[in-house]
Amino acid sequence: MTKITAAGLVIKEQSIGESDKLITVLTAQYGLVRAFSRGAKKTKSKKLAATSLMAYGDFTFVKTKDAYTVEDAMVKEVFFELREDIEKMALAQYFCQLANEFCEEEYESDEILRLFLNALWLLKSGKKPAGFIKAVVEFRLMSLSGYMPALLACDTCGTYESEYMYFSAESGKIYCDNCISSGQGYCLGAAVIQAMRYVALSDFEKIFSFTMASDSLKRFCEVTEMYLLHKTERNFSTLDFYKTVRG
Ligand SMILES: [Zn+2]
Repeated sequence: MTKITAAGLVIKEQSIGESDKLITVLTAQYGLVRAFSRGAKKTKSKKLAATSLMAYGDFTFVKTKDAYTVEDAMVKEVFFELREDIEKMALAQYFCQLANEFCEEEYESDEILRLFLNALWLLKSGKKPAGFIKAVVEFRLMSLSGYMPALLACDTCGTYESEYMYFSAESGKIYCDNCISSGQGYCLGAAVIQAMRYVALSDFEKIFSFTMASDSLKRFCEVTEMYLLHKTERNFSTLDFYKTVRG
């Protein structure tokens, strides 16, 4: 029997029978931990809030054979305000599905956990538009997960900046006007290229601290989602739902 303690964010909860749950928790040190929580659905259980979707707390897990169980869970934050706004709630659920897709068990995930926690705080606070938060999360997550694009200069001639550059989701590279073959790449203005460089390459503390004009932001949002969907080659039910409720 092994016992581990870790702070973590619940990114998935499934009911098991009348009173138990199976939860997936994203932790910094151990990546994803899937654990049974016995009696967690009982209204008197002190584990009820701490094992709910999007709860962040301190967990003690016990491992017997191949399965973890939640021995103790102390909630720190439940992001309750997100539940009062369907657009924010839908986006937060998409973030949970992304975490489930991109993270693994037994794999240190410190920065990805911080990325999702910061995104949920920011979403809750209303200080940034939901679409902006979504785009930053998508693009930073791709950069952290082995899909760091090569954004420093045109891949063919080395031009750093031109009025328009073209981003290829296929190669993860950018090309200038002169070097792009017709029909290839996604045409982006200088402001969008700057934002992509900033989100992929800045220190973590800074990635949400910039602003964009609304037309550039729209393009930035399109390209981050397109890149993520292209590389993962799958659909996200939570993303489809978010698109039906966003303002
Ligand atoms: Zn070029």
